[in-house]
Amino acid sequence: MTDNDKHVKKQKKIKEKVDNNVAIAQEERGIVIVITGNGKGKTTAGFGTVARCVGHGYKAAVVQFIKGTWECGERVLLEKSGVPFEVMGTGFTWETQNREADIAAATRVWKKAIEFLKDPEYHLVLLDELTYMLGYDYLPKDEVLTAIQQRPENQSVVITGRGAPTELRDIADTVSDIKNVKHAFTQGVKARKGVDW
Ligand code: ATP
Ligand code: MG
Repeated sequence: MTDNDKHVKKQKKIKEKVDNNVAIAQEERGIVIVITGNGKGKTTAGFGTVARCVGHGYKAAVVQFIKGTWECGERVLLEKSGVPFEVMGTGFTWETQNREADIAAATRVWKKAIEFLKDPEYHLVLLDELTYMLGYDYLPKDEVLTAIQQRPENQSVVITGRGAPTELRDIADTVSDIKNVKHAFTQGVKARKGVDW
């Protein structure tokens, strides 16, 4: 058998397996995607999914549970395409030391998130950095999980953030744990506009 024969045989096997899996996956419904872990790319992946959704003419909404000090490039772009953004204007950043103010800000943003999670018009809802709100007990975990589970059938939800709790992983359909291999920041390179935010 030549190398090419071997290659053809191997590829045929892979194709059969993929075709079989495609045939099995017939259910049509919205899904819950959790993108967690310490590596870079969680929020980027969330916004990538929003771009996909909007590109197909569907409605998407973005809720951000952390207020960075930087403007976010995706927001500038996506708001032009009619994507509503709810961001914790005040309150939680890494620097905050006021638990009461953080909880008030988280609760206010969560109320908007619930509206999106009840609205079948939205094909996709991105809950960026939601995991921290659960990790810090800023939002009631049961209420959050229930709202996600009771969303409209055709709506998908993307949740990002480090340290996704087990209960969130359990209710998700897809979970990606992004591993940190290395990061420019730890080598002294400043976060870059247009790359990191
Ligand atoms: P991004 O927004 O680039 O997709 P992320 O959502 O995976 O990153 P976060 O934990 O939300 O990561 O952190 C936000 C910021 O911290 C980004 O500017 C990102 O580049 C940076 N960052 C992400 N992972 C790391 C890491 N392992 N070490 C240092 N900085 C990081
Ligand atoms: Mg992020």
